[in-house]
Amino acid sequence: MDRERALRRIRDLEKKISLVSKILENMREGVIIFDDEGVIRTANRSFLEITGLSYDLLYGRQISSLDLRWEGSPTFSEVFDLLKEEGAWRGEVWGVHRSGTIFTCEVTLLRVGSEFLGLFLDTTDKRSLEANLRSLAYYDTLTGLPNRALLYDHLAYTLFRSKMRNEKVGVIFMDIDNFKLINDTLGHEVGDTLLKAFSQRVTSSFPPGTMVARFGGDEFVVVVGPIGDIENLKETMEDLIRNLTTPFHIGGHRIYVTVTAGISIYPMDGGDPQTLLRNADIAMHHAKETGRSTYKFYTADLNIKVSERFTLESELREAIEREEFVLYYQPQFDLATDRVTGVEALVRWHHPDRGLILPSRFIHIAEEVDLIVPLGRWILRRACFDGKRLLREGYPLKVAVNISPNQISAGNFTEVLKEILRETDFDPTFLEVEITENALMKNKQEAARVLSELKAMGVTVSIDDFGTSYSSLNYLKYFPVDKLKIDRSFIGDIVSDPNDVAIATTIIAIAHNLGLKAIAEGVETEEQLIFLRLWQCDEAQGFYFSPPVTLESLIDMLRRESFKIRGV
Ligand code: C2E
Ligand code: CA
Ligand code: CA
Repeated sequence: MDRERALRRIRDLEKKISLVSKILENMREGVIIFDDEGVIRTANRSFLEITGLSYDLLYGRQISSLDLRWEGSPTFSEVFDLLKEEGAWRGEVWGVHRSGTIFTCEVTLLRVGSEFLGLFLDTTDKRSLEANLRSLAYYDTLTGLPNRALLYDHLAYTLFRSKMRNEKVGVIFMDIDNFKLINDTLGHEVGDTLLKAFSQRVTSSFPPGTMVARFGGDEFVVVVGPIGDIENLKETMEDLIRNLTTPFHIGGHRIYVTVTAGISIYPMDGGDPQTLLRNADIAMHHAKETGRSTYKFYTADLNIKVSERFTLESELREAIEREEFVLYYQPQFDLATDRVTGVEALVRWHHPDRGLILPSRFIHIAEEVDLIVPLGRWILRRACFDGKRLLREGYPLKVAVNISPNQISAGNFTEVLKEILRETDFDPTFLEVEITENALMKNKQEAARVLSELKAMGVTVSIDDFGTSYSSLNYLKYFPVDKLKIDRSFIGDIVSDPNDVAIATTIIAIAHNLGLKAIAEGVETEEQLIFLRLWQCDEAQGFYFSPPVTLESLIDMLRRESFKIRGV
């Protein structure tokens, strides 16, 4: 009797299990069950479809080893900690499908007894331009690795967390030695395949959860954190270099690859992503000078740079008083009429001993030490003054001026501008301001107020470096802007890199959908120009047309009409 009852219970249980698995199999949501170590115990068909992975690949695998990005957390382990603490976690998750496309899911994780359940609702909107740009803007299509934008995001978050926990973070900047030679001698296809294989090898050389990003071309950045000890980082580097001594076999070639790397460490070598990356890059160049296949820490040559910085900083104060700055102007072309319609004002510093210093060397210092506000005011005044001169000479050109985030957050930007316009008697409809997305996002309310005031005055607003620090496209609906400026990093390889092509065309499409204009900067070749025309980009500027030149040369060139677009 007992036995029969037991058998019946087993049969009931089996029925229930088969019912549950039927439900699981037919659910639209992807489902996984994992244990308290984060090891996947089961996954349903939808989950396999969403990720493109096979059951064999998933079973027994750590969730943290899947290529997923969890909202608000750089790695799964933070999510898991929260889940264990609170019994549930909800958020957005992004991942790369096996085919290389990006998917997004709304995810709910729940504790069920001693195990955990994950429900993945696929929210990938393949038709949405925003989803498209977002994924393009975050992942590199060739290698599937996070790209520069995601790297900045992730690094900023890692630093934020490390600050709270008092931890060190290592930033490794590396570059494949002689990649150009490989590419030139064996062809681009081999080069591309090598980059993919190299990416995988580098990724597998670091502990899971380490971010390895493609910075561009053959440059990669690894964020290692937290690091207990610099010695550990040295060991990791030695491991990587050793790992690379095994050659790659690609298309019948045996290819030996070495890398040169530079390392910067938070907090010693910088407190923000930009500084850490810059210093790691400096260290890498330093390493290159001593030979290939090595690595260098930033600390060694920190002193020279720091002292240079200090002198620049104190000299910068005096330079503003002594008016050692000059504005150069780079013409902008309307691609429908082939005419110059505007110029971008780019500041240079005529240093009494050092000669001409480019803005990349001093603008960030001016921003950090609060000198950008007086400098920015000088630049605006000069630009309006020069714009007025152009009008007088018979050239009704728009003058575009770069505005730093600090100028917006100073709180009196429009008042200062109005005063300058009065003083120079310059018509504001000939003025354009270039503001980066970062500047807008930093201080949304102030930015929205400033932009609507600018709009009311008839000033044109353009978003600079668009696509490089992608946050959310929603803001475009709230800020009155007129133009999107496609960053020159996307224009450089527009002819050969499908990723850049996709980003550039998407930006143009977004601009046109929102009734805005698109302008491309950094146009250097005729091929790039042909592409941009094909995609109906409205305007362009770059060395192909003219480098930035002094006001006098500009007027001279306008007079001689030597800006004709060549050959196209
Ligand atoms: P940006 O606003 O993206 O300016 C474009 C930069 O690209 C300029 O560098 C320009 O000389 C350079 N460029 C133009 N055409 C080409 C090209 O065909 N190929 C390449 N490779 N580069 C090209 P520049 O003048 O050194 O300025 C660098 C950055 O400094 C600017 O980037 C801007 O962020 C900042 N900056 C320059 N002037 C000012 C200013 O007056 N105020 C503020 N706040 N920032 C400024
Ligand atoms: Ca600009
Ligand atoms: Ca730019």
